[in-house]
Amino acid sequence: MYTCQGKIIQPGLAIGPIKILSSGSGISVSPVAIEDVEAEIGRFRNARFTATDELRTLSEKALADVGKSGSAIFEAYMLLLADEEYIVAVEKNILANHVNAEYAIDETSRELEAVFSAIDDEYIRARAVDMRDISSRLIRILSGQKNEPGYAKDLTQPVILYADELSPVDILQLNRNMLLGLVTRSGSTNSHAAILARSLEIPALFGIETDRLSDMIPAALDAYLGTLTIDPDRETLRMLEQKKQSLAHQNRLLQELKGQPSVTKDGHFISLYANISGQNGAENALSNDAEGIGLLRTEFLYLESADYPSEETQFQAYKKVAETMAPRKVIIRTLDIGADKQTGYFKLKKEENPALGLRGIRVCLTRPQLFKTQLRALYRAGVYGQIAIMFPMITSVEELVSIKKIAAEVRLELSEEKIPYQEPEMGIMIETPAAVMISDLLAGEADFFSIGSNDLTQYTLAIDRQNESLDAFYDPHHEALLRMLRLVTENAHKANIRVGICGELAADQSLTETFLRMGIDELSVSPSQILPLRRKIRETDLSHYN
Ligand code: PEP
Ligand code: MG
Repeated sequence: MYTCQGKIIQPGLAIGPIKILSSGSGISVSPVAIEDVEAEIGRFRNARFTATDELRTLSEKALADVGKSGSAIFEAYMLLLADEEYIVAVEKNILANHVNAEYAIDETSRELEAVFSAIDDEYIRARAVDMRDISSRLIRILSGQKNEPGYAKDLTQPVILYADELSPVDILQLNRNMLLGLVTRSGSTNSHAAILARSLEIPALFGIETDRLSDMIPAALDAYLGTLTIDPDRETLRMLEQKKQSLAHQNRLLQELKGQPSVTKDGHFISLYANISGQNGAENALSNDAEGIGLLRTEFLYLESADYPSEETQFQAYKKVAETMAPRKVIIRTLDIGADKQTGYFKLKKEENPALGLRGIRVCLTRPQLFKTQLRALYRAGVYGQIAIMFPMITSVEELVSIKKIAAEVRLELSEEKIPYQEPEMGIMIETPAAVMISDLLAGEADFFSIGSNDLTQYTLAIDRQNESLDAFYDPHHEALLRMLRLVTENAHKANIRVGICGELAADQSLTETFLRMGIDELSVSPSQILPLRRKIRETDLSHYN
């Protein structure tokens, strides 16, 4: 028995055999001298057409299975496949070296992969995986194999899948009924694969470094603790089985709380909303009985695209969430890009201190056209449900005044164009100490507050959220933060506006009673946390404080 620790991508439990997924096309590529280079370039071109067709089909399947976030991945692949620089590089290789297309593709892709992998940006590094997938696909097509590699459909028994690194295509092509869990040796928590693993709710760990695995070896995955136990002994299996049963039992009990109000024993109500990223999250939120959406992180739309998402794309995405959740409220946060959330086409400059840099509302206010496109989409989607908009990273009243000016221009444009829209509530995130200290002034300008405890902890305690070595110092229970939360709530209530918490702290049950006593009006947590939190609220009795 041997236990290793990895990064938790999606919590869950699994017991089963390991299936090792071999990477790449599985086809070995060696150079073959070519006489007719023009014909070879023709083979490359035809393979590209076939690959594009395959990707289009996969994109449609992904759209149906996981929504826009899944299909966008394949659209990005198609763009990469049509990239002029890539095509020219492969063709040049064939022409200059008189080699077969397979070899030229393999060589070029390896070079590009190395370039992407060396860039100090997780998002771009993840593109190396995309490049590998495209190259494997083309080589497979050129080799005459019509179907995807066998592993995609050949899982005949439930397994815990292990791969060096999983591409999104690998995940989407798997037979999910046969999939107990996913484990990889490497892969960033921001990669497409991680995003998909999360949205599919398959227990997943990344970063399991071990050479003790072999095909079909028994394993136990505890993606709550972040452990993979290889060849577990009877006692480990018994404990995990027990944990599974107890979780299943708790889950059954939790289901009984659906439709019940989130109210304390002594009659104190609080709203329980869900945090979601993609448009599909709304269905998950509903099935967990969310009373609304407290935070829709719209960066997802931008990070999953190869270029700025159009007003129409955004409108459709927001409309779908609004309609799915109606008549419940949906609080949509405007783009919070920058810092750890980067995407190439924004061309944001590399910064010395990205967390203190051009991010959130600062990007939107310096690029008003980008901001207007999103606001137009949001105003239009407002017709289809109860949308509220909120703005991230606010530090001053002046920012709010500028936002309102741009919003007024958007309304005027829409009216002039006779495009129907609905004026939503406009709130702000309180996630900087500055916003806390002037929350009395901001309350006069905002329709509601939502406390972003993740960033508020980072900025108050001077701790970079991204820095793993500071984990031990990251203390969201710090008295400084609790005092801030109290001050913000008092100032919100003096101005008769609602205040919620949408950072991770909202789900921290050791503070639920404190939040209720403070008078927080809304807690917004990941969908799977809603019912456990409702149970906690319903077990709480504040009467002895009165
Ligand atoms: C927060 O900072 O608490 C928050 C909810 O925003 P994000 O985690 O997306 O920065
Ligand atoms: Mg934040």
